[in-house]
Amino acid sequence: MSETVMTTRAKRSLAEAEAASAAAVAAPPSRSTRAKTVEEPDYKSMSAEELFWTGYGRFNAKEVEKITGGTKDCHATLHFCLSDGTSGVVVGSTGKGCGHAEVHAAYLFVGRCKTPAAYREFQHIREGIRMECTGKTVCIHCAAFLGLLRIKAYDEHTKKCRDPMGSTEWSMPQRLMTFMGRLLNVTPEHLIGFRSADTRE
Ligand SMILES: [Zn+2]
Repeated sequence: MSETVMTTRAKRSLAEAEAASAAAVAAPPSRSTRAKTVEEPDYKSMSAEELFWTGYGRFNAKEVEKITGGTKDCHATLHFCLSDGTSGVVVGSTGKGCGHAEVHAAYLFVGRCKTPAAYREFQHIREGIRMECTGKTVCIHCAAFLGLLRIKAYDEHTKKCRDPMGSTEWSMPQRLMTFMGRLLNVTPEHLIGFRSADTRE
């Protein structure tokens, strides 16, 4: 067997070990819960724009042409159901240090996921988390953001639009960015790129 083949194999196994290690960081192994953890695509290989549109497409709200609603005191309600059957809601508001109400609601919920157990719980239940936003259309940035978190629209009354929300600047708090980076296995820099991605196709 040639040295070249050996080297290639060694490189491959190193890459596999690194990938496994990265996956372990993103999803700490747990015998009882591993099977439920969602398989994520390789976000690291995506450009900021690809990351953005992956999220936007995944957020399952019906798309409308124009944003409607969106007064300053707008609310978004995050509905969750924990694996022990406990359910509840978290209400986010516009302009509470998180820009948009959807981001604020997610920020409040993520704030409960600080321990390793709570983080794993989030990974397991997140496909069941739903965002209700009937006061206004979900803007393009919030839709992309929610889609990447795998949060779904509550029902058909929550709609999304490709327009950015004009009056309130979109932003993501540092804690949420760190949380998302870990969840998607990408660097915060990647998410900063996501935030400022050109949203025009
Ligand atoms: Zn928004």
